[in-house]
Amino acid sequence: MIPVLVLNAGSSSLKYQLIDMDDRSVTASGLVERIGEDAGRLEHRTPDTEPLVEEGKIPDHGAALDRVLAAFERTGGLAEAPFVVGHRVVHGGDRFSGPTVVDDDVLAEIRDLVPLAPLHNPANIAGIEVARSRFPDTPQVAVFDTAFHASMPPRAWRYALPRALADRLQVRRYGFHGASHAYVARQAAEHLGRPLAELDLVTLHLGNGASATAVAGGRSVDTSMGLTPLGGLVMGTRSGDLDPGIIAHLHREGGLDLDEIDGVLNKESGLKGLAGSNDLREVHRRADAGDADAVEALEVFCYRIRCTVGAYAAALGRLDAVVFTAGIGENDADVRARVCGGLAVLGVRLDEARNAARSREVRTISSDDSAVAVLVVPTDEELEIAEQSLAVVRANG
Ligand code: ADP
Repeated sequence: MIPVLVLNAGSSSLKYQLIDMDDRSVTASGLVERIGEDAGRLEHRTPDTEPLVEEGKIPDHGAALDRVLAAFERTGGLAEAPFVVGHRVVHGGDRFSGPTVVDDDVLAEIRDLVPLAPLHNPANIAGIEVARSRFPDTPQVAVFDTAFHASMPPRAWRYALPRALADRLQVRRYGFHGASHAYVARQAAEHLGRPLAELDLVTLHLGNGASATAVAGGRSVDTSMGLTPLGGLVMGTRSGDLDPGIIAHLHREGGLDLDEIDGVLNKESGLKGLAGSNDLREVHRRADAGDADAVEALEVFCYRIRCTVGAYAAALGRLDAVVFTAGIGENDADVRARVCGGLAVLGVRLDEARNAARSREVRTISSDDSAVAVLVVPTDEELEIAEQSLAVVRANG
């Protein structure tokens, strides 16, 4: 067994997975929710036992990890310390371009990046600190959401702002969902039976958060999210790209202050703002029932994705495959059909029956005569974090 524990700490949650990297099987997984609130909850799952559910106050991330370890004691699977703990860290700024073994200096640098991700990095740091205290002899690795995009050229990451101002405040495109884009790009190459180094891909991670990445030879060369995960595609509750003038307009004419605008753009916009629900399944139901707002929301959502694929085909100069992943990308045949329906100009041809078939496997949904392959690849961010964590620890001896 090579047990690798993957931790994804949010401000009031701790998601975890224990993966045996011998055969890449999941030994156990779970989620602690409502940390710090009155009614906390742990749900711990293993392949062969009933889910273990515990409710009660869980004051902080330390207590959360202790509950998780107690759950492991009851269900088995973690007799000794894990071989490596891999942590999802949202923002690595321009400092971290790959998975990094955490020491005091690295932790201090992740802390320095808090202004770039004030909601996420503090929680990720809390996760690292408690895992270090419980497993002091186990290497801890930070895997950054931004790292995959560190390969973008300046023409893709540079915003046309005054250089000195942007540089002083570290304002540039960073991009997110890196583990997912990296994982599905590799899986796509394997499925196509071609070296990743030879492929030009557009990967579409369409979940509650959504982003597109142009991947040339396995490296990100452009991506739709920016300084923050607010930019780019239309999402569940996030607006995606806007005319930046709208922000001043909302302030001057709408009387909203900055925090209110931030709240509107992050939590009240996207599908929720357009159709009243952030869940695309619900938007479909409403559209099917004749709700005009929901019909339009679907069009806006898919049109933005289609235009982004077109832009990235131009950025890459060639396109071998479009890869759909995450909750919507893996499950929503209608969205895939709408996106690809507009891409005939690039030689994209979907096979209707392949697109409609449901499966958990990596699969091709384009027709045999399509100039561009269209694939559905289920993402696995935890496995990618585990792979990268193990690789960097082994590389460091
Ligand atoms: P997160 O970013 O929170 O991990 P997910 O990847 O789970 O999100 O994606 C959530 C989105 O996926 C929601 O809009 C949901 O409606 C959509 N989704 C999930 N399952 C399905 C399904 N079976 N069919 C259509 N859409 C789905």
